[in-house]
Order: sequence, then structure tokens, then C-alpha cells
Amino acid sequence: MNLILMGLPGAGKGTQAEKIVEKYDIPHISTGDMFRLAIKEGTALGKEAKSYMDKGELVPDEVTIGIVRERLSKPDCQKGFLLDGFPRTIAQAEALENLLTDMEESLDYVLHIDVPKEQLIERLTGRRICPTCGATYHVVFNPPKEDGKCDHDGSELIQREDDQPDTVRKRLEVNVEQSQPLLDFYQEKGYLVSFEGDKDINEVFQDIDQKLGELAE
Ligand code: AMP
Repeated sequence: MNLILMGLPGAGKGTQAEKIVEKYDIPHISTGDMFRLAIKEGTALGKEAKSYMDKGELVPDEVTIGIVRERLSKPDCQKGFLLDGFPRTIAQAEALENLLTDMEESLDYVLHIDVPKEQLIERLTGRRICPTCGATYHVVFNPPKEDGKCDHDGSELIQREDDQPDTVRKRLEVNVEQSQPLLDFYQEKGYLVSFEGDKDINEVFQDIDQKLGELAE
């Protein structure tokens, strides 16, 4: 089962990825996670990736395509894979097509978790963090017992700079600009399947699971 998972920040991509890879026993390949691991391990790749990530830029296509090529050649990918955070550019999407052709494989679906932008803003700006213990809350979806105070140590909860409404809007806009050409690319090729992501986590997974079940038939 060869899959790509797409969705804007806050759409619940991470949660659905976990559920998909568990049920279908395929590796979860997140380029962001691979870069973060390389940075932690202090490899040459990590050093290069960090210089771009720190500026909020994309790592160059040659580097990114290189790590995906290497990862897809590992034996565990014979069962398939779930790509997350890749491709981010049309050049990467085209390179992926070539890679898969070389492997005598092809994509099954591009799963797109679609959540209205206003709802994403509500999800992302509602996050509150305890500056003392790092616990996270959400004013609507996971509120602390006492308004504005950490359940563990009573500290006054704060909102991270990244979660301020203006920053969130900007981050979403950049992501929409980046991802729309890819959604169009895969729509045209007939791989794109969109799921309403503004439902309960388990319901979204049921919808995805039902679609993936068709592949097994
Ligand atoms: P993510 O965790 O997917 O948000 O990725 C974190 C950062 O890693 C991004 O902001 C990029 O700098 C880099 N990155 C991850 N995936 C890619 C990709 N497919 N192409 C280029 N850069 C990437």
C-alpha cells in the first residue's frame, strides 16, 4: 500500500498517520522527522538541513529526494509506505514518480485531510502551555480544570509566540500556497482522495480505513 498523507498544520495528520501505519503495518516516512533525527545525531545531512529549517525554508530538493530514495530502498518498504511531509514541491512529486517507476511500484492514494481554515485557526490558537512543566492544554478541546492554570503545578498557562493568531494565519497561508499545486497535481492524476477532517478523530480514521479497505478487495 503506497500512500501519501497531506493536510495543513492542525488537521490531525500526525494522529491519523499513527493509526494508518499501525493498522496496515507499513512504515511511516516523515521527512521532517528524518531531518530532526539527523540534526540530533549531528550528521552532515543534519547540519545541512538545520541551516534551512532554522530559517523556516524548505531543504533543497536534491537533498530531500536523496534521503527519500534511500529510505524507500529499505526492505521494510516492500510492504508499502506512508509518506508524510513529502513531496512538498512539484519537482519532488515528479522525482517520486520516477523513483516508484524504477522500483516497479506506483502510488495507490494521496490521502488529504481537509479541515476548513477557520477551524484550523481555532484549533491552533487555542493551545496553552505550562511554562513550568511543559504540559499542553487547549481552551476548547482539552481545558485545564481551573481556567488558565496548570493542573499539575498551578502555574499560569501561556500562549506560545507560534500560536498567536497572526503567526498562525501566516503559517497556514504559506502552507496553502505550498500544498495547493501538489493537491492539483495529484487530483489531475486521479490519486487524490479528500476526507472531511472536521470530525471526531475516530470517525476520520473510519473514513480513511474504509477507502484503504477497497485496496485489499
Ligand atoms: P515538518 O515536520 O514536515 O513540518 O518539517 C519540518 C521542516 O523540515 C520543514 O519546515 C522543512 O524545512 C524540512 N522539510 C521536511 N520535509 C521536507 C520536504 N519534503 N522538502 C523540503 N524540506 C522539508
